[in-house]
Amino acid sequence: MNNEISHFGFIASVFIAGFFGLSLGSFLNVIIYRLPRKESIVFPGSHCTHCDSPILYRDNIPVAGFILLRGKCRACRTPISWRYPLVEAVTGCMVIVLFTLNGFTLNFAADTALAAILLAAAMIDLKHMIIPNRLTYPGTLIAAGLSFRWGLDGIVRGIQGGLVGIFILSIMYYIGKLMFKKESMGMGDIKLAFVIGVFVGPFWCLIALVLAILVGGIFGIIQLATGKKNIAQEVPFGPFLATGGFCVLFFKSQIIYLIEQYLKML
Ligand SMILES: [Zn+2]
Repeated sequence: MNNEISHFGFIASVFIAGFFGLSLGSFLNVIIYRLPRKESIVFPGSHCTHCDSPILYRDNIPVAGFILLRGKCRACRTPISWRYPLVEAVTGCMVIVLFTLNGFTLNFAADTALAAILLAAAMIDLKHMIIPNRLTYPGTLIAAGLSFRWGLDGIVRGIQGGLVGIFILSIMYYIGKLMFKKESMGMGDIKLAFVIGVFVGPFWCLIALVLAILVGGIFGIIQLATGKKNIAQEVPFGPFLATGGFCVLFFKSQIIYLIEQYLKML
C-alpha cells in the first residue's frame, strides 16, 4: 500500500516536473528571441514576430499550441518556426530526467538552471554568433547563489570551477589565434565556460570543456573534410560548450564509470 502511494507520488512529481519544464521551455523561447535583439523579456507579451498580433493564451500552451495552430499564426497564417515547440519539448524532457536523477533538491535547481542557460546560449549562438552578457551575467549570479548547496564555502568551489573554465578556454583562444591568425572564440564563449564552472565546480568543468573541445574538433574536421566549411569561416562554439555541459549534467555516473575503468587499466 505504502509502495503504491510512493509510486503515485513519483508519477505525480514527474508530471509536475514535466509541466514546469514545458513552461520553462516557453520562457526560454522568449529569451532566445529577445535577448540578442536587446528587447525586454517582460514587455510586450507574446506576439507574432511577423504581424505583431498578440498570441492568445490557449495558443501559447507549450507544444500543444503549435500543433493546434498547425504551425501557423492564427492572424496572418505565417509559419511559426519549429524551433519553438522543439525548445519546449527538449526542455520538458531535460527537466524530467534531471528530476529523476536528483529529486526535488537544490542540485535539481542548479542543474535545471544550467541546462536552461546552455540551451538558450546554444540556440542564440547558432543564429546570431554571440552569447549575450544578459545571459551569462545573470547565469553567474544564479550559479553563485546556488553554490551554497555545497556548504558555506561552496562559493570557493564555484570560483575554482569558473577559473578552470576561463583558463582552458583562454588557452584554446590563443592556440586558435596562433593556428588560424584570427579570433576563433569570442568573449561570450569564455564567459559561458566561467558560468559552467561556477555551476559544476572545477572537476566537472574540466570534463565538460574537454568534451566540448573534443566534439567541436571532430565536428570541425568533418566539416573541413567534406568541404562544407573552409578554415576562414566562423563556427559558433556555444553549441559545443552546451554539448559538453549536457554530458556532465546527464551522464555523470557513466563518465565516472569510464574514468574508473580507465584508471584500472593503468
Ligand atoms: Zn502573425
